[in-house]
Amino acid sequence: MRISFHGGHSGDYCDHAGGKLEDVICKAISDGFTHYGLSEHMPRVRQEELYPEEIQRGRTPEQLEQMFAFYIQEARQLQYKYRNQLHLLVGMETELMEQNDFTQIDRICETYTPDYVVGSIHYLNGIPFDYSQQEFEKLEKELGGTEAVYCAYYDAQFELMQYLHPQVIGHFDLIRIFRPEFPLSRKVWEKIERNLAYGISYQALFEINARAFKKKLTEPYPQAEILQLLLSLGGKITLGDDSHHPDEVGLNFDRLFDFLQKQNISSLYALEKDEQGEVGHKMVSVSKM
Ligand SMILES: [Zn+2]
Ligand SMILES: [Zn+2]
Repeated sequence: MRISFHGGHSGDYCDHAGGKLEDVICKAISDGFTHYGLSEHMPRVRQEELYPEEIQRGRTPEQLEQMFAFYIQEARQLQYKYRNQLHLLVGMETELMEQNDFTQIDRICETYTPDYVVGSIHYLNGIPFDYSQQEFEKLEKELGGTEAVYCAYYDAQFELMQYLHPQVIGHFDLIRIFRPEFPLSRKVWEKIERNLAYGISYQALFEINARAFKKKLTEPYPQAEILQLLLSLGGKITLGDDSHHPDEVGLNFDRLFDFLQKQNISSLYALEKDEQGEVGHKMVSVSKM
């Protein structure tokens, strides 16, 4: 069974993605996905938070929110249109711009009522650390080194998890993106274990994210060592292609399946929405298609 619960970003609603949202869904269907979760980025609300490509296009925060509103609207229509071919969920991926400031996440969730949320951290100290090597280095300078950056990342993730209980934890160790060889100290491991245990305590699904391969990492997010700890603690796993274009639906899933096999993973979890609108877990078996 093919599933993905993180991705479906499209050029229609995200300036660093490409292609059309409906084509994402058609590609998922033709690739044999049974479940697919869309998780467009939630809109950022301050001018200084815009990405360079958004500034280039003359976007304003108001426009970003308008685009998000249109995303939810079209995604709901497509969810209905393709209901007999694909179990499609309409979700969103979080941004936490400042530690402890959950006002925007709360407001967006209340206004647009997504089916589920992918809890992700892309910003620390107002810096989008996964955007480029330069941004990552800037953060290291501000916080005083790589270990401090890792600690800040896992602390921010912990706060997000405690506050929001996101159904899916997105790219758990994204902080590796530009420092994949950085050895994890005991202090960092303690934070990792704390976050894993906390997510497990409220039944979060941890996503294994294939986009790491596109970023030239040799293992997905989370890396094998963290994944094994997660499994030993009883964690539940789902998959994500983190697609930003219809052509990226299921991208590198062949490598991902090889990785799952090496890690002895044979069952995964999907999110399913029932007739009452309740979202629950469904266990699915790993199979290559
Ligand atoms: Zn993105
Ligand atoms: Zn992300």
